[in-house]
Amino acid sequence: MPEVQETILEIDLNALKHNFEYLKSKLKPKTLFLAVVKAFAYGNDAQEIAKYLQDLEVDYFAVAYANEGVALRQAGVTTPILVLHTLAVNFDAILENNLEPNLYNAKILNEFIAFAEEKNQNEYLVHIKFNTGLNRLGFWENDIDYLVSKVKATKAIKVKSLFSHLAASEDLNEKEFTLNQINSFKTIAENFSKAIGYQPLLHMCNTSGVLNYPEAHFDMVRCGIGLYGFGNSEIQSANLKPSASLKTVISQIHHIEKGESVGYNRAYKSDRLFTKTATLPLGHADGIGRIYGNGKGFVTIHGKKAPIIGNVCMDMIMVNITDIDCKEGDEVIIFDGKITSAETLAESAGTISYELITGISQRVKRVILK
Ligand SMILES: *Cc1c(COP(=O)(O)O)cnc(C)c1O
Repeated sequence: MPEVQETILEIDLNALKHNFEYLKSKLKPKTLFLAVVKAFAYGNDAQEIAKYLQDLEVDYFAVAYANEGVALRQAGVTTPILVLHTLAVNFDAILENNLEPNLYNAKILNEFIAFAEEKNQNEYLVHIKFNTGLNRLGFWENDIDYLVSKVKATKAIKVKSLFSHLAASEDLNEKEFTLNQINSFKTIAENFSKAIGYQPLLHMCNTSGVLNYPEAHFDMVRCGIGLYGFGNSEIQSANLKPSASLKTVISQIHHIEKGESVGYNRAYKSDRLFTKTATLPLGHADGIGRIYGNGKGFVTIHGKKAPIIGNVCMDMIMVNITDIDCKEGDEVIIFDGKITSAETLAESAGTISYELITGISQRVKRVILK
């Protein structure tokens, strides 16, 4: 492994492959696998990850916004790409890059049909989302007649898939609610397909859905967080390997005497005779938010925990290394797959792995381990 000389996010493609194969092992052989690579593949590196998964013959990709799909096409990705959150302003980019829009309400449906007709499209592939309880995006069950009449009235689009999203697939206390969502989606899918006269693909499960609700895998599953190594529970995460490790180095060490303070607003005041601190080259502009400051978050140096002291600065944090034998230039681990997972660090500040990993900013250099 190369020596760390600055803040880097190391991305381990072998871990990604392990997670992909583990999640696939939970599926029937015919179930398709859609990899969710939105938000820079959850902060990893969307282009590298997508190209790698394409080589592993993943069936589909999803991004949140069209520009994310455009970046994948520019990187040479040819696998179908579903745009989860279609906005009318992005229709041109969608068409030019052969992206497949999610149509989730009457406004976006009608606008896209008009657009596709004007561009002389024939059976342009679209996906229809139904709301079964998350109340975020999607048509309602009683929109089916309207929807089908609109789709049947044009040759410009064809419905490639119907889908819905679970609200609490990771929470087994909400099993009854989830089973209701699944049943409601089944009814919707049946009624829609009968009325339209052909059978679109059906999909509903995110990572936790894949692991907790095998009866809801349908034709395809949509995995994000699991690919990057987290399973929304300790037991499930144990079978997965975090793909990203955030590492840095010690820039400077200070010896602080009793009563002295560290950082902005003098938020940390030393109450020991001597405190040794290390200044590290990453801060809230790199994705380590202020919530990790003042003793909540920590880093690991030579296997020992060093709490973040004082307020997190834009470009730096200071950590307490009083009891750690280390020197300037030594390696620091913020999270990895072995010592501290992003899940543990996120929990220390009351947030979740999704937020921590997707928030690692583009300033941090990505290093791909193959
Ligand atoms: C982000 C997203 C997913 C992926 O969810 P994970 O919990 O990360 O597996 C799946 N479907 C939709 C609609 C999403 O927005």
